[in-house]
Amino acid sequence: MTGPATPDPVVLRAPRLLDGTGTPPVGDAALLLEGGRVAYAGPAAGLPEGGWRVPDLDFPGATILPGLVDAHVHLVASGGPDLAADVPRGEAERTLAAVANARRQLDHGVTLVRDLGAPGAEAALVGRAVEAGAVAGPRVVASGPAVTMTGGHIPYLGRIADGPDAMRTAVRANLALGARCIKVVATGGVLTMGVAPREPAYTQPELDALVDEAHRLGLTVAAHAIGEGGVAAALRAGVDSIEHGMFLDEAAIELFLRTGARLSATFLAPHGILGGPSVPGWIKDRARPAAEAQVRSFRAAVKAGVPAVAGTDAGTPDNPHGGVAREVAFMVDNGLDVLLAVRAATAEAADLLGVPDRGVLRRGAAADVMVADGDVAADITALQRPVAVFQDGRRVV
Ligand SMILES: [Zn+2]
Repeated sequence: MTGPATPDPVVLRAPRLLDGTGTPPVGDAALLLEGGRVAYAGPAAGLPEGGWRVPDLDFPGATILPGLVDAHVHLVASGGPDLAADVPRGEAERTLAAVANARRQLDHGVTLVRDLGAPGAEAALVGRAVEAGAVAGPRVVASGPAVTMTGGHIPYLGRIADGPDAMRTAVRANLALGARCIKVVATGGVLTMGVAPREPAYTQPELDALVDEAHRLGLTVAAHAIGEGGVAAALRAGVDSIEHGMFLDEAAIELFLRTGARLSATFLAPHGILGGPSVPGWIKDRARPAAEAQVRSFRAAVKAGVPAVAGTDAGTPDNPHGGVAREVAFMVDNGLDVLLAVRAATAEAADLLGVPDRGVLRRGAAADVMVADGDVAADITALQRPVAVFQDGRRVV
């Protein structure tokens, strides 16, 4: 498959622009997109000569910023009340669900996602179709099946591996499916009977083997970890991000700072479970203490300087795709500075995903852009109102 043709150049204008790095907004801004890349981002007065020959798109009252990044999604799942039942049985049906959910993400301004768990290659395949221009959706960095132990969390979105050698084999099997990162289930989970959410799943030698093998092959590692014991073990093994991290103690926060790992809190996951009218009671009972601890843990982590990335866990109960702007609002409500929260959903997340030029607006970066209706720095809910989305310089919304 060959990629789509190069789009025509265009200038976007708005009263403000955020470049995604966390620096304050640029006023009276212009963004020149040329050849699928950013040719200029800054004050309109500084537009390069010749920019006037390019068509102009004016967005009064809006904010120009990088396309949003959701660092934790499950494209094969659609947010029904029971995750296990929501994932279609057939591979073809799962792939079709992933295509539909990719479109939903794009409609909400999301131009890059990391898929952290599918039964097979579904999300990676959708990502390839997006790159070829055959399917509308965000770019996808996919993990393939989550690596989980016998009796562990989400076996229906994963592959079972027990023992250090099996961990290495699981990494290689995912690589063969097109994975660009690895997801490991380091503790129990709220949605699965079996090991309790707060208890560690894998041993240290198992986690060490998985991370060593993944990094050796150029893949990053995301660890699902709810309790502090599993968080610490995963961080000691050298994972690149902790997913959920609901119970964090001082030792865990210290390990984050020492290793540089990012925290992807996924506030929307417990929010969907606790607010979902049809979610089973036993799941709500397991989610409640974790949700309460999450608020304290996140506040402590960001206060200590742990870098946050925005991940929604989209696809889990009552958590449909496209919610990353709401996740960002939760992060702000729970103590993260507004500009750092925007960074968490743009530059910080794109860097974690290994595609840093898809999270910033600066000369030479990919022309993935969202235009939000309002002043994002003053009102974070403006992120929930996309008025235009550009991907590789082409308007897609
Ligand atoms: Zn997940």
